[in-house]
Amino acid sequence: GEKEKIDLNEMIKEYVNLAFHGMRANKKAINVKIDLALDLEVGQVRLNPEEFSRVILNLCNNAFDTLREKIYSLPESEQNDFHALLTVQTICDGNQIVIIIKDNGMGVSSEIKDKILEPFFTTKKGKEGTGLGLSITNDIIKDHGGTIVINSDEGVFTEFVITIPKNKK
Ligand code: ADP
Ligand code: MG
Repeated sequence: GEKEKIDLNEMIKEYVNLAFHGMRANKKAINVKIDLALDLEVGQVRLNPEEFSRVILNLCNNAFDTLREKIYSLPESEQNDFHALLTVQTICDGNQIVIIIKDNGMGVSSEIKDKILEPFFTTKKGKEGTGLGLSITNDIIKDHGGTIVINSDEGVFTEFVITIPKNKK
């Protein structure tokens, strides 16, 4: 879609917050510490704001889902001791922008890691998941000339590393 110059850090702050408040309104609320580590050098990035805001929302929604799953997988007596954490980091590396979205939820097993970007792949039950969030996310990143890499340690963390050029026409 159409691209324009956007303050990416501001967009991230806005949409991480939106995802967090949406999560607290729509599902059983969980406490999550949100850590934003935003590189001031990032500045204006050429992107499609409607599409890119969906990327942030999709990845944050998945993080909140897995953190909720993690909390409720623990015995009740341990649920308060677990510190759910979502970290969103930006890095300006020359003409490349790197965005890292990391959670300490359930992680992704190596068996499904290659499948989660595919349309309709979901591990969520019933109407909870459509399996479209990551495939749409992948399409949007590609349309911005970027890449998305998934790193995970099952049961420990998941991180999505997005790299996009800063000023692609
Ligand atoms: P949906 O959220 O509707 O299931 P997505 O395309 O957003 O669809 O995600 C596909 C699948 O990828 C999820 O069902 C889940 O199994 C896995 N997944 C995505 N993000 C995470 C994450 N942060 N931690 C663990 N698993 C994840
Ligand atoms: Mg999703």
